[in-house]
Amino acid sequence: MTHSSDNGSDSVTLEVLSSHDAQVGSLQVRRALPQRRRRTVGAWCFADHMGPADVTEGSGLDIGPHPHTGLQTVTWLIDGQALHRDSLGSEQVISAGELNLMTAGHGVSHAEEATGHYRGTLQGIQLWIAQDDNARDGAAGFEHHGDLPRVDLGEATATVLIGEFNGASSPARHDSALVGVDLRVTGTSEMDLDSAFEYGVIVLEGLVEIDAQALGPGTMGYLAPGRDELHVRARGDSTVIVLGGEPLDHEIFMWWNFVARTRSDIDAAFDSWRSNDGRFGKVDSPLARIETLAPYWQTRET
Ligand code: MN
Repeated sequence: MTHSSDNGSDSVTLEVLSSHDAQVGSLQVRRALPQRRRRTVGAWCFADHMGPADVTEGSGLDIGPHPHTGLQTVTWLIDGQALHRDSLGSEQVISAGELNLMTAGHGVSHAEEATGHYRGTLQGIQLWIAQDDNARDGAAGFEHHGDLPRVDLGEATATVLIGEFNGASSPARHDSALVGVDLRVTGTSEMDLDSAFEYGVIVLEGLVEIDAQALGPGTMGYLAPGRDELHVRARGDSTVIVLGGEPLDHEIFMWWNFVARTRSDIDAAFDSWRSNDGRFGKVDSPLARIETLAPYWQTRET
């Protein structure tokens, strides 16, 4: 890999994609992934910018117990607090600047609730990572990281949520080559990229310029592999999430809260949740379990 000329770097240009609005629990979200033109960035397969929203002690995300399989959930708040509970018995308040990482493997369930004490603004991003074939049927797990490494990059500070970025490495578990970074930019900044990775740049607050294109909330900038550095210029204080990874070499299948390789994997997960057969455990939550209709292909067959 060479890091010599700017020419090679400039041959990959930023593509700007629009997020779409969706509702999750009681919150409005801007969904950057997946979208029709871009299903994944590396193994990152889901990205919801949540809020900003006003929450109270008793009403916040309000997402009742629901199952996951074949993925990791990455929760990162930039304002406020929320409460995570899962079927492994974890009960964890997450505050702005802290990371919750839940690995589903063969199956886990969780709820995201109000904290019982926090009142104010809630804003953040929830991401999913598709697990690779070695891990997607493995054990479930939960990690909380309250102190993540930071690196100064000119008029920007990068906090490494997962993976390695410009010399700093996150302790969070990951099963494939990828990176996730929170970037606070006040002016101009340069950073190294891994030219084997593709990247998605999601702006949560403010406005940044990359390749003379403006990116604000509700958009995602996409860079194909082949780029080894990035120049970012902020117009005012900006909060940006940078996701990267090696492009997936296989198709993934996403339906509802499940990531799998085949429809029959999804059918089995759906049946387990509907029949409550123990695969997804039990969450100790005051909120109601979330149910869903059968996959559309099952309905069609009858
Ligand atoms: Mn979830």
